[in-house]
Amino acid sequence: GWRSRAAFKLIEIDDRFRLIKPGSRVIDLGAAPGGWVQVALDRGAKAVVGVDLLMIEPIPGAELIQADFTHPGVAEQMMDLLGGQPDLVLSDMAHNTVGHRQTDHLKIIALIEIAADFAIRTLRPGGNFVSKNFQGGDAGGVLARLREEFETVKYVKPASSRKDSAEVFLVALNKR
Ligand code: SAM
Repeated sequence: GWRSRAAFKLIEIDDRFRLIKPGSRVIDLGAAPGGWVQVALDRGAKAVVGVDLLMIEPIPGAELIQADFTHPGVAEQMMDLLGGQPDLVLSDMAHNTVGHRQTDHLKIIALIEIAADFAIRTLRPGGNFVSKNFQGGDAGGVLARLREEFETVKYVKPASSRKDSAEVFLVALNKR
């Protein structure tokens, strides 16, 4: 079985956009407990490297590291483990909310920006990027940048994402 309910969200997104192909190289940011990693492998990815602040129980076929992705050197470590440019960068990173709207908001945007920067810097041409985002969050700057760097940028609310949550996913297709 899948390790997380989140797995169903990636399944829905991938059924719609066909991002994971046999042989794909995939980076997964904020990967614990490993549901998205399982889905990527199940759909034929040949190399999956995941990172999380939390320890992730091993998953055969994946390289999983425990680290803060925003810390220096972690992105490079992941690229070394992947052994080539990623075809797909996934980020489901979310911090524990502190309950102060503006603080939470800034942290969410910071994580999306860091994930987007990494995707833009590392993806092969034609590669794709998926990131968790929150409705009402002003991701304006990062959206404009993604629209320049990718052919198509969409917002998706999977049916398996709770209707009362503000969670949405940003899907950026076909890096230029
Ligand atoms: N997609 C995962 C799955 O299917 O199992 C679920 C991910 S969960 C919603 C979000 C994760 O992001 C948490 O485990 C959290 O520890 C991680 N996270 C938040 N900030 C992070 C950071 N700076 N570096 C690495 N992981 C981070």
